[in-house]
Amino acid sequence: MGKGFFNVPIAVNEPVKGYAPGSPERDAVLKAYKEMFNSKTDVPMYINGKDVTTGSTRTMSPPHDHQHIVGQYHVAEQSHIDEAISTALEARKAWADMPWEQRAGIFLKAAELIAGPYRAKINAATMIAQSKTVHQAEIDAACELIDFLRFNVQFMTDIYMEQPESTSDAWNRIEYRPLEGFTYAVTPFNFTAIAGNLPACMALMGNVVVWKPSDSQVYSAKVIMDVFKEAGVPAGVINVVFGDPVMITNTVMASPYFSGLHFTGSTFIFKELWKQIGNNIHNYKTYPRIVGETGGKDFIIAHKSANAKQVATAISRGAFEFQGQKCSAASRAYIPSNLWNDVKNYVIEDVNSFKMGSPEDLNNFITAVIHEGSFDKLAKYIDQAKADDNAEIIAGGGYDKSKGYFIEPTVIVTKDPKYTTMCTELFGPVITIYVYDEDKYSETLKLVDETSEYALTGAILSADRYAIVEATQALQNCAGNFYINDKPTGAVVGQQPFGGARASGTNDKAGSAQNLLRWVSPRMIKETFVTPVDYRYPFLG
Ligand code: NAD
Repeated sequence: MGKGFFNVPIAVNEPVKGYAPGSPERDAVLKAYKEMFNSKTDVPMYINGKDVTTGSTRTMSPPHDHQHIVGQYHVAEQSHIDEAISTALEARKAWADMPWEQRAGIFLKAAELIAGPYRAKINAATMIAQSKTVHQAEIDAACELIDFLRFNVQFMTDIYMEQPESTSDAWNRIEYRPLEGFTYAVTPFNFTAIAGNLPACMALMGNVVVWKPSDSQVYSAKVIMDVFKEAGVPAGVINVVFGDPVMITNTVMASPYFSGLHFTGSTFIFKELWKQIGNNIHNYKTYPRIVGETGGKDFIIAHKSANAKQVATAISRGAFEFQGQKCSAASRAYIPSNLWNDVKNYVIEDVNSFKMGSPEDLNNFITAVIHEGSFDKLAKYIDQAKADDNAEIIAGGGYDKSKGYFIEPTVIVTKDPKYTTMCTELFGPVITIYVYDEDKYSETLKLVDETSEYALTGAILSADRYAIVEATQALQNCAGNFYINDKPTGAVVGQQPFGGARASGTNDKAGSAQNLLRWVSPRMIKETFVTPVDYRYPFLG
């Protein structure tokens, strides 16, 4: 098929637009927001290149205005999942043999559609569906998804170029086959980019996919699917299904052709899915690949030499952007006693200056949390902290779900370094701080390492290089993404490949070639030019 060794465009990160007053991007996104907010969208499933409506529907409402309805989506019965699987397997016959540059062309086109004609729409959808501020929507739904699509094409060619040595009489080649069967993408609510990337990166490598987005992200998932369609993803290659996650997963995993799970979401669900795959292992035609990026209890530790204002800013940004609903959000901090007074005052000043409300008002830094279940859970932990003797709330602590699911950014200070909110992932705008004796740095590093089951992100702030060296060593297993003198959030595709260890996931680094390698099964081909005709080796005489 190939008639040239093609170079792909060099991937560059999409510049983040500013949305300053008077800018064209600000006008465009607000116009799109208004139009979408004030209309009703019907979201079908998408199976075998066709919109599928079932008549069994659920409504969609913005978390910041939960009585307002922006549309409905159709949910699957088991027969729809069976159809998604069989059409994916049918589509595989042509897709797996599609020349790589043609697959690349489709996803590079998808990136440019998002960068241009779909940018306002995908950002507005993310503001409405997931209550992101325009900045959070821009860095996620537009820029990160564009980056994933562009960089993955480059990573794919890097992988394909990894070839073994050959000799004059034998030519050794590796081809990177897609997995045999179909793959399953299960995506979380909190990143539109992850929702798009999980199915897209598997499809880019030649796989066919059944994709189940989160119920809380369907509205922006629809825009992703519209982009994929317009970019030319062929029928059956990515099939989108909505509805009961247990029924969908049971049906997918009962198929002997299930060949891979690409999951991002909570740790408990991932462990359950892994167990289910294990229980079915005798039924599969191939060992399914399992990639999961899950929860975190991400930390900031400051050394006594750190700058208090920098520490406070790392906390304010790291803990509260997108209401703390980033897997990387700082949710526990360890502050030395000498800095505490200043850090405390700066953080309280920051938190009190945050404006909270609808993302349509671009003055707001904080909006609503994703749904009532999340709101109720966070309110419960806040109430508990108010009641507990060993915890004190020094900022925030209020909540109100009358119009939207609004939780005030909340700072808890505890005297117990193992206090429940120091250990448990809350996934909301709540950080817990433990103030340690400034002379007990080494002991505190041990505490950081031993406090949580997770190992996703973490940060050390220090002006003392020996303290940085010590933290880098002592904390080597408790963060897959480790930050020095920065907040622990904000990974950029192509710059900081992302993923955690321990209970946080399989650490297959989204936004890197390592992740794409999980979706191929290499075939070694040795071609011998002069084939022997005598079994006797020279030593036989
Ligand atoms: P979630 O686990 O509730 O849902 C994730 C996906 O799993 C959704 O599509 C959901 O419908 C599906 N699901 C739920 N129950 C299921 C079941 N029984 N069987 C099969 N599928 C099921 O997570 P969420 O609330 O959408 O996202 C937040 C979580 O995701 C947090 O724990 C966060 O730390 C994690 N996260 C991790 C990363 C990372 O890169 N490590 C990135 C984003 C989010």
